[in-house]
Amino acid sequence: MAVPQNKVSKSRRDMRRAHDFLVAANPNECSNCGELKRPHHVCPSCGHYDGREVVAQQSDALIDDDAA
Ligand SMILES: [Zn+2]
Repeated sequence: MAVPQNKVSKSRRDMRRAHDFLVAANPNECSNCGELKRPHHVCPSCGHYDGREVVAQQSDALIDDDAA
């Protein structure tokens, strides 16, 4: 088994971990509905991407209740 050659001091360990932090999301405004969405992702609220609808929404889809 590989063993570290030298003990990493608390200082060195903590200096390494100084960069381990969570970065906040960088949301964009949807050009269709104005809702905040992740960049380069389909809008979760209206299903639009690049000015056109790519994911049909629940309200638009024809759902036959008797089929289930
Ligand atoms: Zn949208």
